[in-house]
Amino acid sequence: MAGTLFIVTAPSGAGKTTLVRGLLARDPRVQLSISYTTRDPRPGEQNGREYNFVDVATFRDLRDRGEFLEWAEVHGNYYATSRVWLKQQVDAGRDTLLEIDWQGAQQVRKHFPDAVGVFILPPSMDELAARLVGRGTDSPEVISRRLLGARGEMRHVAEFDYVIINDEIDVALDDLVAVVQAGRLRYAKQHQRHPEYFDFLEQD
Ligand code: 5GP
Repeated sequence: MAGTLFIVTAPSGAGKTTLVRGLLARDPRVQLSISYTTRDPRPGEQNGREYNFVDVATFRDLRDRGEFLEWAEVHGNYYATSRVWLKQQVDAGRDTLLEIDWQGAQQVRKHFPDAVGVFILPPSMDELAARLVGRGTDSPEVISRRLLGARGEMRHVAEFDYVIINDEIDVALDDLVAVVQAGRLRYAKQHQRHPEYFDFLEQD
């Protein structure tokens, strides 16, 4: 029985990281895919936990050897999902969540059309700006770049199956937990889980 693949996409500042952490704590059946990136680790981030941090030459080498299912350049850095690891996990029946941008989501959907896409929106553009400033991790220059990018990213919301508006974090987390559970209960997944029952029902 194949695991369910979840793609979670959001502009930075929408609260994606907090929501995904909350989901993992609430639902231990979900695991996170660790991406490759060429950006520098932020304080508190560990190699192999948040990301596999690599330099540009290593990234290009891995990419050219076909190691990536998808890759994208986001805010001037490269990001990618490992092809072999992800396929192994899904084939082994593990529900796996990808936190990737809309470009990556489009590419993953081509290989895994059953993937459940979830887009997280901030309550408004004003609130997004306030959160990015309040976070205090990025320079004003980086923040204005991210805000500009956010609008472009949010235009891709229609490509996703579910939309969560993260106004209150507790409510949004309940929403995300519900979406993950709903994804597991889709007809195709239940059919895979209970083949004899469904075959019996579909007999003449
Ligand atoms: P951050 O640098 O803030 O951790 O992530 C920046 C952006 O890169 C986010 O939109 C995040 O979803 C995206 N991202 C992280 N990992 C991947 C990946 O493996 N592939 C793609 N396409 N985007 C990613």
